[in-house]
Amino acid sequence: MNTAELSDIHPALRLRINPRARRIALRLDNSNRVMNLVVPKRFSMKKARIFALEHQGWIKQKLEELPAQIQFEHGTKVPVLGALRTVNINYDTTLKITNIALNSNEIMVSTNQEDPTNRITRFLKREARATLSGLASEKAAEINKTISAIQIRDTKSRWGSCGPDGRISFSWRLIFAPWESMDYVVAHEVAHLVHMNHGKEFWALCAELCEDYPAGKKWMRANGHELVRYG
Ligand SMILES: [Zn+2]
Repeated sequence: MNTAELSDIHPALRLRINPRARRIALRLDNSNRVMNLVVPKRFSMKKARIFALEHQGWIKQKLEELPAQIQFEHGTKVPVLGALRTVNINYDTTLKITNIALNSNEIMVSTNQEDPTNRITRFLKREARATLSGLASEKAAEINKTISAIQIRDTKSRWGSCGPDGRISFSWRLIFAPWESMDYVVAHEVAHLVHMNHGKEFWALCAELCEDYPAGKKWMRANGHELVRYG
C-alpha cells in the first residue's frame, strides 16, 4: 500500500512506515496540513487501511479545524517584526515597478501587478534576512565569534540551525514571530557557535545573549506552527 491508495479516505492522508513505531497511529502535521498514518514496519496494510477508514470522520474533522492560511491580500493584518500591520495595496497600472514599504502599522504596496503576493513574500524575505543577519552578527560579536555564513530558508518546523562549520540558517518566517521569539531563536543559534549541545552552559549563554529567552522559547513552542500560515 502507498499514500495514493489512501487518497479515497482523505486526500491529505499520508502513509508513514516507521520501524520505530510500536503501534498504528494518526498524527496531525499542522505545518504541512496533512494527516500521517504512522504504521509499524511489519503491520498488515489491510488492517492499516481499515484503521484509517474507521477514523475517516475524525481525520476530516481534524484537518478542517486547522486555522486557515492567511494570504497577503488588501486589508489583511499580518504581524511583522513584532507589530500587527495591515496590507495596503494600491493598484496602479501606470506604475513601472512594485514599491513596498514597511510602515509602523502597514505594509504599503504600490503595484501594477494584479496579484502582488510573490512580490510581498520576496520583500518580507529580504526584510527577514536583513534583520536576522544583523541580529546574529551583533550577538556573535558580543562573544567574539564570527559567523561564516547566514542562510535564510523556508523551513516549516526548524526555525534555525547552526552547523559545526559556523554556518547559521534561519527560517524567513521568524519575521512573523514576536520580537522576543526572534531574539531567542537567534541567541540559540549563536550560542551553538560556542556549545554544540543543549547543556547547562549553553542555556546560560542563551540568557546572556537574549533579554528574555524563556518567554521567547515558550512562545515558539506554543505558537511556532502559526508562522507557516502566512503567505
Ligand atoms: Zn539547539
